[in-house]
Amino acid sequence: MQEVRVRFAPSPTGTLHIGGARTALFNLLFARHNQGKLILRLEDTDMERSTLESAQGIIEGLNWLGIDWDEGPDVGGSYGPYRQSERLGIYQQYAKQLLDSGNAYYCYCSPEDIALEREEAKNNKTNYRHKCPYKNKNSDAIEAEIDGNPVLRFKMPTDGAVIINDLVRGSVEFRNDLQDDIIILKSDGWPTYNFAVVVDDHCMNITHVIRAEEHLSNTPKQVHIYEALGWSLPYFAHVSMILAPDRSKLSKRHGATSVQEFRNQGYLPQALVNYLALLGWSPGDDMDILSLSKMISLFDLNNVSKSAAIYDIEKLTWMNGNYITELDIEDLLSIIEVEARDKQFLSDDNRDYFAKVISLVRSRVKTIDELFASIDYFFISPSTYDEKGVEKYFYKNNGLEKLQIVASLMKISPFKTEKIEDAFRSKADEMGYKAAELIHPTRLALSGRTNTPGLFEIMELLGPQVCRERIKLAINFLK
Ligand code: GLU
Repeated sequence: MQEVRVRFAPSPTGTLHIGGARTALFNLLFARHNQGKLILRLEDTDMERSTLESAQGIIEGLNWLGIDWDEGPDVGGSYGPYRQSERLGIYQQYAKQLLDSGNAYYCYCSPEDIALEREEAKNNKTNYRHKCPYKNKNSDAIEAEIDGNPVLRFKMPTDGAVIINDLVRGSVEFRNDLQDDIIILKSDGWPTYNFAVVVDDHCMNITHVIRAEEHLSNTPKQVHIYEALGWSLPYFAHVSMILAPDRSKLSKRHGATSVQEFRNQGYLPQALVNYLALLGWSPGDDMDILSLSKMISLFDLNNVSKSAAIYDIEKLTWMNGNYITELDIEDLLSIIEVEARDKQFLSDDNRDYFAKVISLVRSRVKTIDELFASIDYFFISPSTYDEKGVEKYFYKNNGLEKLQIVASLMKISPFKTEKIEDAFRSKADEMGYKAAELIHPTRLALSGRTNTPGLFEIMELLGPQVCRERIKLAINFLK
């Protein structure tokens, strides 16, 4: 069987959007499932809009997500170069082949001529198709006559239809009379997308083109170019759009849309990958949390839906919380290490302590931002106390007396969770209180908060010295 070769072909004109990331991911899953190869190709022929920063950002985003490729601009391979801007000679060679075989022609019409033609078609309510006076003329003769830089156009068939057997969308038919003689080389000699993509997919031996639905309407044009060059077609699979919950196009106003933004907001790559995989692909009932290797083993284009996928931040956030809780603690620590050092929670000599803190709080948060926002009191004394908590647990119900009782318990030894809990409960019994009446003011004194993980676990971690000091501070605050 022929080796499966797929590609992800972003245009480096912006950030890596989650739609692009999902396309890359589906290509990865398909390639790995079939023991094939994934190629990264940068489609950077739009010189005005393409930037190096964008290319770098896309590569970084893919790396962060754990999407890796076998051939590409950075890793090389035997079908390079993998940047379209470095392939001009190849495009020109095949453009010449189309010209020589009578499948293409130079068009000298000015943009103004074309605009007039379009206007006329619009007024007549007919389909626009360029009627070029140069189409059937000998190009040498024209060149002698005319000054100017022509574009090269492809002669699209005018009747019949193309049927595309899309692996996601099924059979889709496109009438040829609705196509235009598209430009394949611009007047500066550079290829247009529809031409370059065909040349590259052929020259790079791509077997399956898995890409966004927006390119479905380009496919019949590409099919005609394949045929004119005598090349066999790859399989096509057009993956549906990702829409916002209100079914409008996903945009900035729906919150984060780029991989970098999710990263900045404290999402884990594993969670984002897991979530994106399920946007349009259904591996089966109750299949929610899936490792990359599980996704690879289950992935099948037959289970990719042709209806639009609806983006749901709540599900992603739920999934993220799940990953934060379930990830191997060492993996989680390595993901958050740099930020934890920046925020001065982690240093060379508190790694064990830091790991215990993270283990204790992680099941209570949904993002890394929330994680960091919930651990300050493990590292410094609270600088303020929650206002409502102060009212409820300090002022009402005689908080001062209760903290004084708790202060008398600080000699518990060993200062371990169970021991501390026993001491609290028996002291409360002895004094005729409910244990909660001692727990709430103590929690507030130690953390400044009313909502934390279990108090006794926190106390063990903080240690008797710190607990004693903080209870004393709270007592002074109340006096
Ligand atoms: N450069 C195109 C894009 O970013 C790729 C289209 C394709 O995969 O054929 O949309």
